[in-house]
Amino acid sequence: MVSTGRKCSRCNILKEWSLFHRRNSNNSGRASICKECKKIYNSGNYAPKGLASINPEGRNCKECEEFKPWNEYGIATQSRSGHKTRCKDCESTGKIATQNSRSALLEYAGPIDTYAAQRFILGMGRI
Ligand SMILES: [Zn+2]
Ligand SMILES: [Zn+2]
Repeated sequence: MVSTGRKCSRCNILKEWSLFHRRNSNNSGRASICKECKKIYNSGNYAPKGLASINPEGRNCKECEEFKPWNEYGIATQSRSGHKTRCKDCESTGKIATQNSRSALLEYAGPIDTYAAQRFILGMGRI
């Protein structure tokens, strides 16, 4: 069966192959969006790729992978979505974990410091 065209992935209209730009990197040898859609894309009247995928309701947390509303995320002006990638819950547990490891390190740093101090004192003593 020879297909005479394809459905444009943008406008979803079945069009002839001649209405798609050639693209050698594709299996079909044609672009996945039609020339018309490509024109709109090039003129910039079309939301940049990725922006359209932002859900107005919320997102899946990068950490716990649960879908949570935007108010469950901290504000991050640098990010594309305007929110952090991890939910507030994960942010706070992450902080606790960091604090725990930090205090553990401090506890551990004690004996090391004493040991180093003893060696230092001993070394000084030798001189
Ligand atoms: Zn199209
Ligand atoms: Zn989370």
